[in-house]
Amino acid sequence: MNLRNFDYDELVQLFNNNDLPAYRAEQLFTALYSNKVDSLDKITTFPKELRADLMAHHTIKSFKAMKKQVSVDGSIKYLFTMEDGKSIEAVFMPWYDDAEKTNIRNTLCISSQVGCSLDCKFCATGTMDLERNLETHEIISQILDIEHDLNTKITNVVFMGMGEPLLNYKNVARAVNILTHPLTDLMSRRKITVSTSGVVPSIKKMANLSRPPKLAISLHGTTNGFRDKIMPINLKADITVLMNAVEDYYRKTKLNITYEYIPFDGMNDTIEDAKRLAKICKRVPSRINLIPFNDISFTEPTGIAETLKPSSSERIIEFANEIRKFGGIVTIRDTFGSDIDAACGQLALSTRNSTSEEV
Ligand code: SF4
Repeated sequence: MNLRNFDYDELVQLFNNNDLPAYRAEQLFTALYSNKVDSLDKITTFPKELRADLMAHHTIKSFKAMKKQVSVDGSIKYLFTMEDGKSIEAVFMPWYDDAEKTNIRNTLCISSQVGCSLDCKFCATGTMDLERNLETHEIISQILDIEHDLNTKITNVVFMGMGEPLLNYKNVARAVNILTHPLTDLMSRRKITVSTSGVVPSIKKMANLSRPPKLAISLHGTTNGFRDKIMPINLKADITVLMNAVEDYYRKTKLNITYEYIPFDGMNDTIEDAKRLAKICKRVPSRINLIPFNDISFTEPTGIAETLKPSSSERIIEFANEIRKFGGIVTIRDTFGSDIDAACGQLALSTRNSTSEEV
């Protein structure tokens, strides 16, 4: 059993079932997430026999192998091979204050599933079938193993890698619970963003967590007609249903919402779209992130995917200004790692990783 699969209360229960006191569970939890031990034999607060017993039946290792590719912009794409041979990716993005030349935050984009079932037409992962959900330990270990490899602290986590996090709700919610637990100093709930294409039942559940994370919505369309075509999940929960869930999330959590929006040339970047986006943005405190479209031609797109072309950078700037004119708040997001196929939310296991460095 992997001990990173248990939140604090579950660890206490596990120890209790084995006639061990609760304070031992607290020591283990602190060792795993405050001291960030990478091996059970390093938990020196435990007597030797207890360590040996734990090691006989448990582990904290999730991955068989880890490879990385470093981009010219400083971002790093990690490829993890799991115990069953399946692979996932995570992308490390360092942010700098240009004037001060200091590192202001380190964001990690992590995966929640192997593949994805949702078939968003602009997404490389969407061209893969869903193979399985990640377990909690595989989610947590992406963060801890990369911190260990880079000898740095991850300050922000975004669930925008492979998979739809809210279709793996139980394990994602448990990972959020562990990361934000008051016994660890891993991160505040405001530093974790769960990005969803619109899984409404899970948005409702997540709003009731004791420490809910920030919510980002992959919107990418302002009409049901267009969103139906590029994001089939819209046929299950349309924009009105989704917006009601978003309002409910804000009311319960008081956390500002982010809308992710890829402008596609001549398709969803019109002045009417700008007006509708501004209107959406004003419903609850929120911001729109405009994300330049990354080339997914290595996946050989067909159907509507073939017709999706990126808006030019000039048009994206104009579009942002139009949204602002109508009262919306907009950021044009930096792209990271385009030379290593590391676009967040658009990851797929490209075969172009032959230059990866094994670590
Ligand atoms: S954008 Fe997200 S939900 Fe849509 S196919 Fe890609 S990974 Fe799945």
